[in-house]
Amino acid sequence: MDLNKVSVVRWFEDTNKHSCGYCKSENSISQGMWAESLTVDDYQELIDRGWRRSGKYCYKSLMEQTCCPLYTIKCDVINFLLSKSQKKVIKRFNKFLKDGNIKYEDNIQFEEPDNHSDLHQNHPKMNLSDLSASISNSIQQNNLTSIETPSTSNTDEIDLNEMDNSQQKTEKICDKASNSSQLKVNTKTPLKVGVGADPTKPPCKKAKILRIERKKAKGLQFQKSPPVSNQKSLEQFLEEVSQNDKKKLRPKQFPEGIDGPGYGSFHQQYWINDRLIAVGVIDILPRCVSSVYFFYDPDYRSLTLGTYGSLREVQLTRYLQKNLPHLSSYYMGFYIHSCPKMRYKGKLTPSYLVCPETYHWVPIEKCITLLEANKYSRLEEDIDAIDENLPTQRDISEIQVVYQRHLMHYDDFDEFGDESEKFKLIANFIGKKCCRSLIFWEQ
Ligand SMILES: [Zn+2]
Repeated sequence: MDLNKVSVVRWFEDTNKHSCGYCKSENSISQGMWAESLTVDDYQELIDRGWRRSGKYCYKSLMEQTCCPLYTIKCDVINFLLSKSQKKVIKRFNKFLKDGNIKYEDNIQFEEPDNHSDLHQNHPKMNLSDLSASISNSIQQNNLTSIETPSTSNTDEIDLNEMDNSQQKTEKICDKASNSSQLKVNTKTPLKVGVGADPTKPPCKKAKILRIERKKAKGLQFQKSPPVSNQKSLEQFLEEVSQNDKKKLRPKQFPEGIDGPGYGSFHQQYWINDRLIAVGVIDILPRCVSSVYFFYDPDYRSLTLGTYGSLREVQLTRYLQKNLPHLSSYYMGFYIHSCPKMRYKGKLTPSYLVCPETYHWVPIEKCITLLEANKYSRLEEDIDAIDENLPTQRDISEIQVVYQRHLMHYDDFDEFGDESEKFKLIANFIGKKCCRSLIFWEQ
């Protein structure tokens, strides 16, 4: 058996409640497994069933029991619609590339968290490398020292050491080899940091009211005239600066002569001259680009880089989709309706949440009403709809187990002791397809 082509995992039995990174209660409950190796096909199946990875640790919440149910959210990139506020973010970034100024506006309202990622604080203590150390390592590789470590509380969450800068292609998510695609942005203008609002001028108290009035007026206009289809695309907005002044912006999608990076895990780096200002950690899977983590230099906070980064990742997905028709979604991790910091994820339109009972995708607009009433809800409207990937007893018996250095089917393994309840639970969590592909390493 070629271990490079299979997924080998270790299941963690953990039915205890843990502290929750979102609501700060002690009522978070999930199941998890440690992936020694994981193919992109298997990981795609798992994330479509509500799983997510944090380094090599994969987890799925017990939706009906946990304090903050985690709904997988995706955006359909083919029909992506750029909102006004997203256009603003791109324009602000392009303007910065043109004049090199970062303006600190007091009235900017940040709708995104410092770093877009999902918190998962309760996985078992594994030999994970420390995030701070990992980030400083990766920065040292690039000869940069000026980037601050993001101040998140989940310091052992991601294993950046597994992502090196090699160009080696891999089709595995949780393996040693990984790639790095660079998106270089160059500007000759030295960076200037703005001084903020002019203290000699009176504060503009009515700005907010004016904005609301303007929005209302525009809203009325919008109702009268529907949006026209000849609007600029996301790509046109993003490339506006490079068309006007190519010396300042040279986005580099992939290394020379390569159409795409292949499947696997990548760092998408954002460079201004010789300064690394942000990094997006992404997984490229058969049907999606999945955002794992995004962090940036807080000096550039006013550029709303989290939002800018997610738009770049949408653009990357759209680019890849041209050659890979099934790769048509951008996954943003989990959506928690009770967590206001998550609302920004639903603003990438059109978005869908996965139903926790049927695993069908449901437009987010339909889910909101249900989630307002109940934090846990079956999202699928059709009461007759079922989970087509629900495993049968036959599927459970086919699960492969490595025990005492022997590979066997669950049926044979079960003779060593009754594990039927455990494997029934595992099968329901991973689904029929993964029952046939994941190998469980039992000790
Ligand atoms: Zn919670």
